Amino acid sequence: MNLFITGGAGYIGSHVVKALGEAGHNLLIFDNLSTGHEWAVLYGTLIQGDLADKKLLKETLSNFKPDGVIHFAASIQVEESVRKPIAYYLNNVANSLNLLDVLGELGINYFIYSSTAAVYGIPEVIPITEQTPLNPISPYGASKVMVEKALQDLSHAGGFNYIALRYFNVAGADFMGRIGQAYKETTHLITRALKTAKGEFPKLAIYGTDYPTSDGTCIRDYIHVDDLAQAHILALEYLLETGRSNVMNCGYGHGFSVKEVVNITKKVTGVDFAVEETGRRAGDPPVIVADSKKLRELTGWTPKHDELEYIIQTAWCWERSLNIS
Ligand code: UDP
Repeated sequence: MNLFITGGAGYIGSHVVKALGEAGHNLLIFDNLSTGHEWAVLYGTLIQGDLADKKLLKETLSNFKPDGVIHFAASIQVEESVRKPIAYYLNNVANSLNLLDVLGELGINYFIYSSTAAVYGIPEVIPITEQTPLNPISPYGASKVMVEKALQDLSHAGGFNYIALRYFNVAGADFMGRIGQAYKETTHLITRALKTAKGEFPKLAIYGTDYPTSDGTCIRDYIHVDDLAQAHILALEYLLETGRSNVMNCGYGHGFSVKEVVNITKKVTGVDFAVEETGRRAGDPPVIVADSKKLRELTGWTPKHDELEYIIQTAWCWERSLNIS
């Protein structure tokens, strides 16, 4: 298949490109390289371009004639989105609308969208199903809800089919250490813990120990990036076969506390790094765990790497090979 992938040089996009490339698809990757990297694109052809450039987008798409589109390109830092909401709405919403507009003009009707558990905000009931009310608490989460809404309206208008995949806490790296997370700055727990083990930070802060959980720290559903990549392939196959638009959670359905993550990270790295228990980080829900029944039942998705130790091992292997400090 001819597949057009925006943001395919980024962390999750590059793992999906790898999986699609291994499956023999013909890929065109469109990325402005603002946070992605050329070296991360293991398959296909990379075009450096921005979704704000509708002319380039139209030219590229009318030449390539994709059977489907997977749209990763977005700004993804929650805290930054609070400081720069308009930048987030422009990049995540306006640019997605540009893309959808061009796809509509060219009659390209199969679309997989990168969404997030941040659309749920602070949910009252765990595990989170796709019916859980959408109450984003950051401009980042709100930008994803807005695009989901546009997709829903577009599919109601007829002829357009999409699946929005709502990612939980994505972590880990390619098992051969070829690609992984390489952001200049990261706020994510596993990456920060590994960088602390590596000596890049003097200590790791644990944000809050007074949450209503067994050890007082927040619980998250960590999913290996290669399992998430597989979910994209299966969702696309499902969409092409059935033409049924849908929204699906992507997580394992169980979680680990911050303290559990810290302990496993210490075990995997063999480094007893310093930890400091600090106050809560604003906006952190106590527990975020997916109900991923829909993804499993409709697409046949069966995770292969549902083991936190493996997730951290692959991330550690990758992290040690990185010279970005
Ligand atoms: N966290 C932490 N120390 C850090 C980074 C994160 O204690 O240096 C906590 C954070 O408060 C949250 C959990 O780890 O409860 C997961 O945070 P992350 O930023 O990885 O993902 P989020 O769930 O916020 O998207």
